[in-house]
Amino acid sequence: MTSSIAVFDTASSLSEDTKRFLGKKHRLFIGGEWVNASSGATREVFDPATGSPISTMANGDAKDVDLAVTAAREAFESGPWRSMSTSERAKIIWNIGALIDEHAEELAQLEVLDEGSPYNVVKNFYVRLGAEHFRYYSGWATKITGTTVPVNMPGEWHAYTVREPIGVVGQIIPWNVPLLMAAWKLAPALAAGCTIVLKPAEDTPLTALRIAELCQKAGVPPGVLNVVTGDGIAGAALVEHPDVDKVAFTGSTDTGKAIVRASAGNLKRVTLELGGKSPVFVFPDADLTRAIPGVAEAVLLNTGQACTAGSRLYIHEDIYDKVVAGVSEYAEALKLGHGLDPQTNLGPLISDRQLARVSKLLQAGIDEGAKVYSGGGKPEGGGFFIRPTVLTGVKPGMTVYEQEIFGPVISAMKMDGDNLDALVREANNTTYGLAASVWTQDVSLAHKLASRIRAGVVWVNNHNQTDAALPFGGFKQSGWGREMGLNGIEAYTELKSVGVYLG
Ligand code: NAD
Repeated sequence: MTSSIAVFDTASSLSEDTKRFLGKKHRLFIGGEWVNASSGATREVFDPATGSPISTMANGDAKDVDLAVTAAREAFESGPWRSMSTSERAKIIWNIGALIDEHAEELAQLEVLDEGSPYNVVKNFYVRLGAEHFRYYSGWATKITGTTVPVNMPGEWHAYTVREPIGVVGQIIPWNVPLLMAAWKLAPALAAGCTIVLKPAEDTPLTALRIAELCQKAGVPPGVLNVVTGDGIAGAALVEHPDVDKVAFTGSTDTGKAIVRASAGNLKRVTLELGGKSPVFVFPDADLTRAIPGVAEAVLLNTGQACTAGSRLYIHEDIYDKVVAGVSEYAEALKLGHGLDPQTNLGPLISDRQLARVSKLLQAGIDEGAKVYSGGGKPEGGGFFIRPTVLTGVKPGMTVYEQEIFGPVISAMKMDGDNLDALVREANNTTYGLAASVWTQDVSLAHKLASRIRAGVVWVNNHNQTDAALPFGGFKQSGWGREMGLNGIEAYTELKSVGVYLG
């Protein structure tokens, strides 16, 4: 158990490239130029592992959003992106992926400093997948097609469909896994031929700004990608802007609902990737040597700050004690610390605000009758750390059962695995529907549960693994639409039907 956070000398582990980027005056990226916020406002960027400022960003507002949307509109209507040959566009998008790989160490260090996760996870998982997204979608740029359609209208006809880029898209991303969130958004929109205004989260702007530099280097023309850093005020301005054709948002369900309301002005298209409260089921025939660390990591990845976090852990009564003890032992053995420290297994929460929120939800669970089996509380030392916590005695209706905690809190519950109907009813009794996982060797049971759980993603004997080719998104209040795969690119297109009367 980590009782205090060791002080780690970050400066000595940073590459020269990382130091150079951190030392820069970060600006907005509009029309291919790096510019100050119109108001001149700036905002400090913090290292969540120390709570200390590491950089400064421009704090854009509605005026900057308007300039960025104007640049994106101009680039869409008259710029070369849409008219460029699709193979040329594909080459540029592929090059972005290659540049991410080339600068993986710097990007990983920036992400660790900005967001807090351990370096190895960031470099080998998030940065690698980010590059992969660009490579995957570069392939789609040359394959966006329509169909010919036999029609029965009077006379002779040639009818077909085409997919066209939707236009100017506003993309708003959260502070968890920010580099990968940027890649999820940018790669399909670029491949579809859209132009973009990206608004990163105010807590984690750094890697999105660095990726914008890499996009410029890869050959993305001016105005095609614009980045406005700032808070929810800039986000809201983007959503309300009458010249934005589509908003793609990842963040909390509450903000998602506000976006739906605010986007009504010009009926812009909206896709939403929102929160979750994902169930995990462990059965006695599961390979527990994999399942115990697997279900612990289902929640603890990113210190619980993952939309897919498997925060409702249902364990079959026959193995309940063994799994709870194993998960708790796993969590207690994790070393909390700075993500750049090679010894670290678990990073901090993103901010003091998030630490206060998680602590409050945890306390509400305890007040309502949940028991702390292990962990809990803040270790001594700086940064926004909280110990991973295993709760038992959690029941439907409790705050920790119902609400997305977005912190390292595992609610372990005993299940009657022989009454599948009741289990499925209880697991589905949530406003969310993002993800789930089933841990068993019984193929039939796994498929039965996979088909009955109301969630956009179901893993069997795994959790939290995503792939650029596999659609991702939520049922119910976990979102609208899907990202990744073919669905991900179609969400950045409009479908047009052309009917040619031949006489
Ligand atoms: P948030 O909703 O507070 O903020 C997300 C982004 O929206 C930020 O960039 C913020 O500045 C902006 N924003 C805030 N108010 C806005 C407004 N009124 N209009 C427009 N933009 C506004 O979410 P967060 O706390 O940064 O992120 C955590 C949430 O994101 C969690 O609920 C998590 O589950 C969710 N998430 C979902 C997925 C997914 O794919 N489903 C992935 C990652 C995170």
